[in-house]
Amino acid sequence: MITVPVASVTRRPRAPAEVEIRRERGQREVFCGLTGIVWLHRKIQDAFFLVVGSRTCAHLIQSAAGVMIFAEPRFATAIITDRDLAGIADAHEELDRAVTRLLERRPDIRLLFLVGSCPSEVIKLDLSRAAARLSATFSPRVQIRSYSGSGIETTFTQGEDACLASLVPSLPALAADAPPSLLVVGALADVVEDQFRRLLAAMHITRVDFLPARTSRELPAVGSATRVLLAQPFLTDTMRALEERGARRLPAPFPLGAEGTTAWLQAAARAFGVDQAVFDGAIAEARARAGRALERHRATLAGRRVFFFPDSQLELPLARFLARELGMEVVEIGTPYANRTLLAEELSWTAEGTPIVEGQDVDRQLDRCRAAAPDLVVCGLGLANPLEAEGLVTKWSIELLFTPIHGYEQAGDLAELFARPFDRRQRLAV
Ligand code: SF4
Repeated sequence: MITVPVASVTRRPRAPAEVEIRRERGQREVFCGLTGIVWLHRKIQDAFFLVVGSRTCAHLIQSAAGVMIFAEPRFATAIITDRDLAGIADAHEELDRAVTRLLERRPDIRLLFLVGSCPSEVIKLDLSRAAARLSATFSPRVQIRSYSGSGIETTFTQGEDACLASLVPSLPALAADAPPSLLVVGALADVVEDQFRRLLAAMHITRVDFLPARTSRELPAVGSATRVLLAQPFLTDTMRALEERGARRLPAPFPLGAEGTTAWLQAAARAFGVDQAVFDGAIAEARARAGRALERHRATLAGRRVFFFPDSQLELPLARFLARELGMEVVEIGTPYANRTLLAEELSWTAEGTPIVEGQDVDRQLDRCRAAAPDLVVCGLGLANPLEAEGLVTKWSIELLFTPIHGYEQAGDLAELFARPFDRRQRLAV
């Protein structure tokens, strides 16, 4: 039996342009884009991320990613210390030496990212020039790219956007007369990628690529026959770069929860002319399994009130999932950045009257959160502990990036991530 979410039949979609997004500017409490290295280095198996930064950057990466004791690490920090402009030439030479040493010692590296950060000594270095210079020496064995993960320019998921955007200009060209192919963009766990590939194959969509690919040798070709399905909402620059290569985006919500996954796959099916009966047959079992998995958590979550602080840019799709499929009441959706075009379908599903706030003034937001006294607060690590100490129940938004949450088979796990804090509270109380 397929369980139809109650909310999805009672709320009509709204025109995205009608949805008000309030902007707030002030002090913000978010991770920087370096954090993306934690999941990207696991995804691209022959890539290495060399952060050009300070000791703070090294500590962040090391503590977020953990220490790799048994495997050769695939990230490191080249620490740039204080130097004036006159010392920049030396810094370039040092960087060249560090990269040469690394690549001599690690012949398994095929793709090297130089990742910029925010210390002023690093900002003075032109890393794109360094990447071009080093590429001339090491290509074709190693491709070298650069992007910024600086906390001044990026919040934590924007690191992935910057990384993927840096790859797009060098993707091979798809022939102008090639038949349409599907490109799924956004880092997904391999197991999720395989599930999507199987579902798409069941509806006869077989020309499917993923960006990022599992290795640099599998990077997809792109051109005017490329149809893009975004798996993550924070890929504004990557999408722009793909459009510059002729690719076209398929408008869709994001594949979180059974409803989001169905609409996301339906967008592909429509673009590739899949018969509705074939589509329904291809997804029926997985969708029913997702419905059953969600049912288990609805009893814990329905009717509870949730407040989102801005962190991952996943807040709008997550709020939609919690409201429409699990019956939660959304008090406020804070998001670091809301791209109205990429989020149009999500905005049309947002319940009327739900405040959406882009950017952050953390003190004002904390005041609103305390006044609302929600049952659950979704926020970054920096806010979670103080809010827990005040008696609020929290969920770390970073977990939503480290855990496979996309697609039908993960819908129950995604719901469980939000149900677990309540279970923990209950167990502590007895
Ligand atoms: S890039 Fe900036 S914000 Fe991020 S760890 Fe380094 S110094 Fe801190």
